[in-house]
Amino acid sequence: MRDSVVKAIEMIRETVPEKRVLIDEPMRGHTSFRIGGPAAALVLVNDEAELSAVLAAVTAEGTEHMMIGNGSNLLVSDEGYPGIMIKLAGSFESIERDADDPLRVKAGAAVLMSRTAAFLTENGLSGFEFASGIPGSIGGAVFMNAGAYGGEIKDVVKNVRVMDPDGTNVREISGEDMRFSYRHSRAQDDGFLILSAEMELTPDDPSEIAARVAELAARRNAKQPVAYPSAGSTFKRPVGGYAAALIEQSGLKGFKVGGAEVSEKHSGFVINTGGATCEDVLAVMRHVREKVFEDSGILLEPEVRLINCSL
Ligand SMILES: Cc1cc2nc3c(=O)[nH]c(=O)nc-3n(C[C@H](O)[C@H](O)[C@H](O)COP(=O)(O)OP(=O)(O)OC[C@H]3O[C@@H](n4cnc5c(N)ncnc54)[C@H](O)[C@@H]3O)c2cc1C
Repeated sequence: MRDSVVKAIEMIRETVPEKRVLIDEPMRGHTSFRIGGPAAALVLVNDEAELSAVLAAVTAEGTEHMMIGNGSNLLVSDEGYPGIMIKLAGSFESIERDADDPLRVKAGAAVLMSRTAAFLTENGLSGFEFASGIPGSIGGAVFMNAGAYGGEIKDVVKNVRVMDPDGTNVREISGEDMRFSYRHSRAQDDGFLILSAEMELTPDDPSEIAARVAELAARRNAKQPVAYPSAGSTFKRPVGGYAAALIEQSGLKGFKVGGAEVSEKHSGFVINTGGATCEDVLAVMRHVREKVFEDSGILLEPEVRLINCSL
């Protein structure tokens, strides 16, 4: 383990209890792809004070580190990650209605999208249905400006509470100032950590909301290879086209290397058919990119975040 990691872990242990500082933690247990070697350490952080202490430690030691959400959009190297992974838990898992404005809800960054959708449905708050089936956490969804069925997280998020990368300062950023665009937010440029998001919804009958959620879930299950581990759409939607259509037109449905395969059900997804390595997935991605470029002149860009590996 690198010196700076050892020193940062020593400092972190002064604030975060031992049982939440996981050494050599296999990342396959923290990713929807079920792929990834060990992170030198994975720290589960329960509140803002702990996060601030962890960020101060990694900043002081110059330690490589990154935040993960629910790992639904990550491809982690088979070698793992040489630095410190930070994952939010505890107080970041709370979701509540604003006491002054009943149409506003504040969700901690670690709250899952599915739980958010269930909470909003029960409370008769509409506007989040499009996102109900997107795997992952609120933090990951804000970071990625996740979207589906014509909606994007930017449509509902009014304010985001963030911490600066060195852990010193906490502030609120308005939805407009988050510079959201297709699968992009300002958090990707500025490196701040997302703590929570305040959303504005509209009132509706819970049974109508539940019906819309169920309808979208049925559409998702019919089209996507939900039975296999994956990280969702492998590539971003290129300007003027759809990655899945281009991949299909290039005859790559079912293209396989090792345990990684272009899904027969939805060619936009690379799936782990069992025992796929990161290298298998990268080999599929490289071939898909080359073939699609050859056939269409369009260079597909990955939507999946590549951790300690590259195309
Ligand atoms: C079956 C399947 C279907 C999918 N369908 C969709 C879809 O319809 N639409 C869509 O947009 N995506 C989809 N995805 C991709 C994925 O669900 C989204 O990208 C999701 O927003 C990732 O959230 P996460 O919490 O898992 O983040 P992670 O994958 O853990 O992280 C993603 C990025 O966000 C950063 N991040 C996470 N939390 C924080 C935080 N608190 N502060 C700062 N940075 C943070 C991480 O550093 C990382 O760079 C799908 C994935 C799967 C497996």
